[in-house]
Amino acid sequence: MTTQNPENLDPNAAPEKARSLHFIEQIIEEDNRSGKFGNRVHTRFPPEPNGYLHIGHAKSIVLNSGLAKEYGGLFNLRFDDTNPAKEDVEYVESIKEDVAWLGANWEDRLFFASDYFEQMYDYAVQLIKKGKAYVCDLTADQIRETRGTPTEPGKPSPWRDRSVEENLDLFQRMRDGEFPDGSKTLRAKIDMASPNFNMRDPVMYRIVRAPHHRQGTKWNIYPMYDWAHGLEDSIEGITHSICTLEFEHHRPLYEWFLNELGVYRPQQIEFARLNLTYAVMSKRKLIELVKGGYVAGWDDPRMPTICGLRRRGYTPEAIRLFCQTIGVAKFNSTIEATVLENSLREVLNKSALRRMAVLNPIKLIIDNYPEGQTETLTAVNNPENEADGTREVPFSKTLYIERDDFMEDAPKKYFRLTPGKEVRLRYAYYVTCKNCVKDADGNVVEVHCDYDPETRGGQSADGRKVQGTIHWVDAATALNAEVRLYDRLFSVPNPDDPQNTGDYKDYLNPDSLTVISDAKLEPALGDATLDERYQFERVGYFALDKASTPEKPVFNRAASLRDSWSKIAKK
Ligand code: ATP
Ligand code: MG
Repeated sequence: MTTQNPENLDPNAAPEKARSLHFIEQIIEEDNRSGKFGNRVHTRFPPEPNGYLHIGHAKSIVLNSGLAKEYGGLFNLRFDDTNPAKEDVEYVESIKEDVAWLGANWEDRLFFASDYFEQMYDYAVQLIKKGKAYVCDLTADQIRETRGTPTEPGKPSPWRDRSVEENLDLFQRMRDGEFPDGSKTLRAKIDMASPNFNMRDPVMYRIVRAPHHRQGTKWNIYPMYDWAHGLEDSIEGITHSICTLEFEHHRPLYEWFLNELGVYRPQQIEFARLNLTYAVMSKRKLIELVKGGYVAGWDDPRMPTICGLRRRGYTPEAIRLFCQTIGVAKFNSTIEATVLENSLREVLNKSALRRMAVLNPIKLIIDNYPEGQTETLTAVNNPENEADGTREVPFSKTLYIERDDFMEDAPKKYFRLTPGKEVRLRYAYYVTCKNCVKDADGNVVEVHCDYDPETRGGQSADGRKVQGTIHWVDAATALNAEVRLYDRLFSVPNPDDPQNTGDYKDYLNPDSLTVISDAKLEPALGDATLDERYQFERVGYFALDKASTPEKPVFNRAASLRDSWSKIAKK
């Protein structure tokens, strides 16, 4: 904690923070104290454009851009586009959109690792000249086979002691495309006996004679991640190069390359990646779900992708709140899906516009309301924010209410409509239920009531209380809508647990989508926009879907009002 000692009030001290500093902030503050980077803070988000971003990436984006903001520093967006086979401009565009949507601002610093290929090549030549890199003719399989084991050192490549001249010549010819794919590599000459496998002469370049989405056919060799990444950070003057824990054992290599070149060296810092229950996060699996048609695309509202969450109804504020809530740590853990959902509820409870919608309608007829009469009633748009104002809602003799707000034979504690009981119609009147009409199969098709004209606005002049308030939609002016109720994509908390007997796809939740085709909405929802979020009173939080048309609005449920899963778990 940054607690301040009242005896020792330093007028220059930073204002006390509301929370304790996480370990990366502590490192940055120490670096600022020691002047390690001249008080600069410069971070980056380095996605590979080989898929859409997911909520795990959001953690990294919010962390990196947030640190830059917090310390008055800079934040770069850099595409780590070093693997032409899997990368695509479609992904570049979606990633830019998602990073910007999350509120991370790279200003004019949008970079591509491929723009540094020439400089990386020159650096590799420097290492060859220093005797620290060599061209190796072993295949990928042979390199793996000669790597050694944790207890035995690796076997030095027979090509390890090629002369500098021969290496320079061969490396140039690799670049020129003279050799087949995979027939040679450039390897760093480090230590085949190192206890750290990453230091056993790692590959720096491989031959891939494939066109690159930005470089065209210019290159026949492509740099490996470990070689490229530190150079990218160094070239951009990054101070704190934040990555996930699995790169911890790559840090010595990151430092070795930069030290051998004698160039500026950022500090690599590892943090725990985000894992979330009821979701899979690996790009390979997300691609499989999309390509295999298990979901309706990258932006399917059940996907943990940023575009999926956005379409579902998440807002940038909700995702940032989630990232703040989970914090930053050094140990891997799995976060409960409820934490994400509750962040959304917390944000939308404050910001969502309230509207009335009936998802499973039956007719409510007010027998003593004059035939042909209509009126409008005033409804509050958001009780949490007076500035959102009010709106007028039409009302007449025939309304829709939720089917389960009526029960013919109700238990004592049932506070909604049942013959003889009086309830409040939200913003409208008190009504007393008289009876119902059934079809030939015994299904209730109409509920009949009388209203009390003295209770306009939902208040009685005589102070009479009612125990229930239900929502409704005027039948004559209702919009017919499709409403999609989403649930978790998987039915088990850890679909990719290696202990599971089946494939993760065996655990897809068969009830993750329920489509309601004839929901009834109050007319104000005809003005809904894609960016706005709505609370359908008593029903949940909703967002307009991109498939919506003026004739048939489509809404997605972002979240239920409360966490129904935790209730189920407690039962
Ligand atoms: P791959 O499956 O290809 O390894 P990746 O998810 O690591 O994919 P990158 O494009 O390399 O994809 O990731 C960009 C950045 O996002 C990296 O800095 C990485 O550390 C970070 N990142 C990726 N997944 C997570 C996660 N689950 N939690 C936190 N950060 C993540
Ligand atoms: Mg990665």
